[in-house]
Amino acid sequence: MRLLVLTQDFPPAIGGIETYSWELARRWADAVEELVVVCPRQRGSAAVDRAAPFPVIRTRVPCDLLALGARAAIMPIVRRRRIDAVFLAQWQPGPSLLGPRRAGRIPRLFVAAHGRELLFAPFAGAPRLQAACDRLRRDVLAGADALFPVSRYTAGLIRRIGVDHPRVVVVGNGTDPARFTPGEGAAFRARHGLGDRPLILTLGRLVARKGIDDVIRSLPALRARHPDALYAVAGGGPDRARLEGLVAELGLGDAVRFLGRLEADELVPALRACDVFVTASRDDEPDVEGFGIVFLEAGACGRPVVGTFAGGIPDAIVDGETGLLVPQADPTALAGALGRLLDDPALRRRLGAAGRRRVVEVANWDTAARRILAAMREVAAGA
Ligand code: GDP
Repeated sequence: MRLLVLTQDFPPAIGGIETYSWELARRWADAVEELVVVCPRQRGSAAVDRAAPFPVIRTRVPCDLLALGARAAIMPIVRRRRIDAVFLAQWQPGPSLLGPRRAGRIPRLFVAAHGRELLFAPFAGAPRLQAACDRLRRDVLAGADALFPVSRYTAGLIRRIGVDHPRVVVVGNGTDPARFTPGEGAAFRARHGLGDRPLILTLGRLVARKGIDDVIRSLPALRARHPDALYAVAGGGPDRARLEGLVAELGLGDAVRFLGRLEADELVPALRACDVFVTASRDDEPDVEGFGIVFLEAGACGRPVVGTFAGGIPDAIVDGETGLLVPQADPTALAGALGRLLDDPALRRRLGAAGRRRVVEVANWDTAARRILAAMREVAAGA
């Protein structure tokens, strides 16, 4: 197979789709005849592209315009490299590719689905324009040779927006159990002045839907039982000022620490340093958690995780086995789950070990890359 991966989201930007695109491309590069990634140029991309073990072609159009410019951006590459399948990491660049797909100039077109991009309504104030956008979205999904949602929840969203596709293959996200491993967290704690207090960690982009405010609101009840518990928030994003305001308002200055965006080599030390990992996402439609890769990353580091019954998180956490799930937007339930884990080192160890085992056995990028590639090959072979 000669495969072109087209993605709006790619490192050095940070996020789930960026991780997904990079990790799959890396593995497919070893497994197919030819692999090339096409994505928008961004600051710092030259270093990423030099290190990539496959060609990365950066388009001149910025991310949002890639939706319009996809055809012009990739068709010369498709012809020159005799590409026989195009994999879109999200549907948005798809509309201008449907013509070449129907004409057979793109022999196969595959589309991944995550969450937010299936619901977001950029033209909500202009109903006719939005209806046209919804139609395009359905056309791209319906016109693909196969769809790859990252969770059962995301597969449900595809149906909910009116696409009934005969070939929907749910392939959950993964992580890398060789990179995310259990180990010592003392050095990270020392570097960030976290001491040896019971440490709860969130890692993620600071956006409202990650429910960091709900964890902050759970702290007064949690601290009634664990007065020295510390909540560290790693990651950067637009919600930071609001969250800092909430911490001040609740008088929790000594209970919460904002660590900012972490360098890639700080992720594993941060996860190892915590006693419990939590992300309390909410369905804040259209902003939803399609899966939650960070839960796998924390699990692979042997950490017990707490998440919510929101979006695809129940596919990322096996409730009672690799972590605990609580209702969304429920600080009382969060305080209960976090307190239960801080109380019980044996439970923490059991959930952490099971989280690691699940990543090693199934929830890893090798498995995800293999499963998607196998399905693409089956389609390409005309099955
Ligand atoms: P999403 O961004 O909402 O899709 O959330 P996910 O949990 O699915 O994916 C987030 C990805 O970004 C994970 O691989 C995280 O490790 C990564 N990430 C989040 N915050 C940071 C950060 O501050 N630094 C770095 N280097 N990676 C981060």
